[in-house]
Amino acid sequence: MPYAWPQDTDFALWELDVLDRACVVCGRAMHICDHRYRRVHTLEGPVQLVCKLNHCPDPNCPGHAKTKSPELEITIALPKWAIGWDVLCWIGQRRCARHRSVSQIQSDLWDDYRIELSADSITRYIRHYQVMLAARQQDPEALRQHYQGVDEIILSIDGLQPEKGHEALYVVRELKGKRVWFAVPLISATAAEVRRLIAQAKAWAESLGKPVALWLSDRQDAFVTGIAAEFPGVPHRYCDNHFLRDVAKPVLEADSHAKVQMRKKVRGLRKIEQAVLKRQNAQPSGRPVDDLSGVTGTETPKDSTASQVDAAGAVVLDYCTAVRGILNDDQGGPLNPPGLRMADALDEVRASIQRNLDAKRGDSPSSNWPDSPGASTAAETRCAPNRHRSAITSMTSRESPRRPNREGRSAPTDRRGSRR
Ligand SMILES: [Zn+2]
Repeated sequence: MPYAWPQDTDFALWELDVLDRACVVCGRAMHICDHRYRRVHTLEGPVQLVCKLNHCPDPNCPGHAKTKSPELEITIALPKWAIGWDVLCWIGQRRCARHRSVSQIQSDLWDDYRIELSADSITRYIRHYQVMLAARQQDPEALRQHYQGVDEIILSIDGLQPEKGHEALYVVRELKGKRVWFAVPLISATAAEVRRLIAQAKAWAESLGKPVALWLSDRQDAFVTGIAAEFPGVPHRYCDNHFLRDVAKPVLEADSHAKVQMRKKVRGLRKIEQAVLKRQNAQPSGRPVDDLSGVTGTETPKDSTASQVDAAGAVVLDYCTAVRGILNDDQGGPLNPPGLRMADALDEVRASIQRNLDAKRGDSPSSNWPDSPGASTAAETRCAPNRHRSAITSMTSRESPRRPNREGRSAPTDRRGSRR
């Protein structure tokens, strides 16, 4: 689809001549027979290309019926593209190296270069880029240059499933040159199919003339037999990552068990929330629940009591939200187990509630802050950093102004030390 250029686009004019003007058939000097006008976006701005087309002046020469385009044209943009190579590379780099989404690329292109492209066009250009990238990745000459300084090769193979239910993608990587050699989707990873990939890797290594020192994998049966058959005598080691993951299994199981225990203990959030909402609905005034002015005691005693109930209720609801987030956190691997983080976060909540209770006692012994049933249940847990910190920080800002900063916020180890 032709690109729709705005009326007032200011194009730079680039005239392109044919450099080698000898007719390829008869050798005569060719003449200009036509012009082709093209407009492309470049990172330097919109450009109008004026391509002077040449042909052989001799009507009897077969070269007469053919036109020759300026050699430089395809170095600026491929036929039918609305963008130059520089823009294509810019888009491809954003997508493949920085993992930007199409819409992000679209807005960046506009913000940085005033280049307007549809999402469809950007998707199409990304596909062009990927095809070229894949071709370059497998180009034997480029590969040979890449491996010039490498004396031996270490290969790894693994299957991964980019999307559930789709075929697994088998990837062969080389670790010395840090390069993905090839990736092949296999619907059924039979021993024969897997061996075909290993044989392909062998052919690559042989074409590079480099010895294979080691294979790494998760030691699936098909890998073990295939590598033994294609690479007799080459060591085949367990991949560290898989090894660690398997070693860590008991840790994760224990962590998961601990999480269940904590979830059992910290419950009844909904009940607390319902009670607070019920009390707030019963309040006659439509005071916003976030209004904390009553706490500072600038109002009449009667009003103050009512708004304190309101404000306290809002704080309780915030605690409930934070605790729910903590209980639902399932992220993290064996080195950062979610159960530990959950315990740490709950401990922070408990400490925070305790400070509120202390403040209540110190500030206004007669005030009717609601007793939070959550305060006692969120107890008996442990401490460290986690991503619920922001929620908790926002709540601590509602704590008594007489309280200084929270202790030990600077480092997780400090906080461990301050455990009650
Ligand atoms: Zn000719």
